[in-house]
Amino acid sequence: MKIINNSLFQLTVPTPFAVGDVHLYLLKGDSLTLIDAGVKTKKAFEAIQVQLKEIGYHPRDIEQIILTHHHPDHTGLVEAFPRAKEIMGNGLVDLWLRKDEQYFKRYEDFFKDYFRRCDIPPHFKGIGKKLRSLMHYAGEGNLTSFLDEGDRLPGHQNWQVINTKGHAQSHISFYNETEKLFIGGDHLMKNISSNPVIEAPVLEGEQRASPLLQYRDSLRRCESLEISHLLPGHGEIFTNVSEVVQARFDKQEKRAAHVFELLQSGKHTAFQLCQSIFPTRYETQIDLTLSEVVGQLDYLQARGMIRKSAEGEMDFYETATAGE
Ligand SMILES: [Zn+2]
Repeated sequence: MKIINNSLFQLTVPTPFAVGDVHLYLLKGDSLTLIDAGVKTKKAFEAIQVQLKEIGYHPRDIEQIILTHHHPDHTGLVEAFPRAKEIMGNGLVDLWLRKDEQYFKRYEDFFKDYFRRCDIPPHFKGIGKKLRSLMHYAGEGNLTSFLDEGDRLPGHQNWQVINTKGHAQSHISFYNETEKLFIGGDHLMKNISSNPVIEAPVLEGEQRASPLLQYRDSLRRCESLEISHLLPGHGEIFTNVSEVVQARFDKQEKRAAHVFELLQSGKHTAFQLCQSIFPTRYETQIDLTLSEVVGQLDYLQARGMIRKSAEGEMDFYETATAGE
């Protein structure tokens, strides 16, 4: 447990995932609020109990829970606080907390089709199995109210909601303009990349979002705020926000340049690019590597540097000047 100031505490909780520990934040104000809820394991709950006790609290003292986004390492224990009647977050989180079967089914169907468009061979089984095994660690319930850009956190008027889509379509962060503090979830971390991952659109037939482009906008948003300390969901607290933001932009633009270079040798499908860029990783992490490649393709397309053409059921990418 780390004391940030007399009304803000950082709790650190283990997860079974490669990312390691996740941070939760306890906010004291007109309400006792927990920001994020760790992962649904006994170990995580014990860690929360022990750290709350250090500050003189018990899980039943928590009055409300506010979630940065829907990923299981942030929602896991929403049900573990008997007096937390209010659970808040971006509206999309509700679909995940309710474990909305229809939504999950649409989600899987979208990716079946999308994998085909990207030329991913059928032995990659789609994302259904992974999605469901991850849900085992996610919390269950429903949101009692939705938060959006500019809202003040109930009971904590100094804290406002900043929309930070990119890493997840449901991602929001919290900014305290008086103390220049920013609780950033998985939006910006010092030594961990945020992976803007592709998600299925909420409504059938809707276009998917371009998470990398959203992520770039959210980074700029973050840069425009005066932040003294960034309190992340994973990794260490940091102060050099604009430096970290710049490093993210640099790394991403370098990756985009690499994709562009590959396309100069001729047209490619997204899967062919995955194989060239991640020669072994694509086999075990097709979802992440595909999100990475498609992100760069979205970026290059938005800049008018490449174009996409459909041939049958498949999408091909080539430089904008190819064939001229
Ligand atoms: Zn996340």
